[in-house]
Amino acid sequence: MFAKSRIWKRAALVLMILILGTADNVSLLAARNESPPVPHPSVSKQTPALAELKKSEAADRRGNRKRNQRNTQAQRPLSWVKLQQLYPGAFYIGGPRKPRMVTLTFDDVPDMNYTPKVLDILAKYKVRATFFVVGSRARAYPSIVRRMQREGHMIGNHSYSHPVFSRISLQQFQQQVMRTDALLRPLIGYSPKLIRPPYGEILPKQIEWAQSKGFVIVNWNVDSEDWRSLDSNRILINIKRTLQPGSIILQHAGGGQGQDLSGTINALPRLIRMLRSKGYQIVTLPELLNRPVARQTYR
Ligand SMILES: [Zn+2]
Repeated sequence: MFAKSRIWKRAALVLMILILGTADNVSLLAARNESPPVPHPSVSKQTPALAELKKSEAADRRGNRKRNQRNTQAQRPLSWVKLQQLYPGAFYIGGPRKPRMVTLTFDDVPDMNYTPKVLDILAKYKVRATFFVVGSRARAYPSIVRRMQREGHMIGNHSYSHPVFSRISLQQFQQQVMRTDALLRPLIGYSPKLIRPPYGEILPKQIEWAQSKGFVIVNWNVDSEDWRSLDSNRILINIKRTLQPGSIILQHAGGGQGQDLSGTINALPRLIRMLRSKGYQIVTLPELLNRPVARQTYR
């Protein structure tokens, strides 16, 4: 009798964990299911993923191994720390801690409003950055992509229409990458090696395919959270919080509908001065990772 009630208690606990996990997922998906391109919600940060892993490990210990594997490994993305361990050289969230270098990355470009302003500031301060281009936006504003290239910045692939990669098929993922690749090549003269997944979400099988084609996946370890339309003070505080040598700093230079990135614009000169005053060299992402910007292509 006692043993039986304990089993029921355990079953109820596991059920509760599963329900909570699912509810979590549903609300996250609702938050992410916006028309593309959209800003990066904080769900792509490492902490929730790690929490999910811990939750699933606990479920494991409760003898629910089979169901757990089905639910977590098949559908839920792994934490970025785990992915970096599993795919060295193919998945990055940061660069080496020495020397004292950091890199600026700008996602969701180009747009007509913010991208030219970011380019103006970078030119003024003689800083080269890395821009992750959304294919559909490059198609709308090709001259701004050419300007990035002309002014010495690095270009990466940020999908065609900004979907959540972990929610689309391998084939759809491949199309998202290759469609943008085909668009960018004639504009900038090379096939970008670097891919940044929208929201940082990507599945192991997608990383494996990308690696087999000579791509490298790059997320970030410093999130300005500027997509929330924050003021420049808040953005600088967010960046300083986790800044260290080897940091890949995420900002946005292309806004979605109703999105105000003026905080990013106002923060940028201050950020550059702050980094230099702390002795950081601001390098491009390929320099930080010591990887080429262009992908070798075989025809
Ligand atoms: Zn994005």
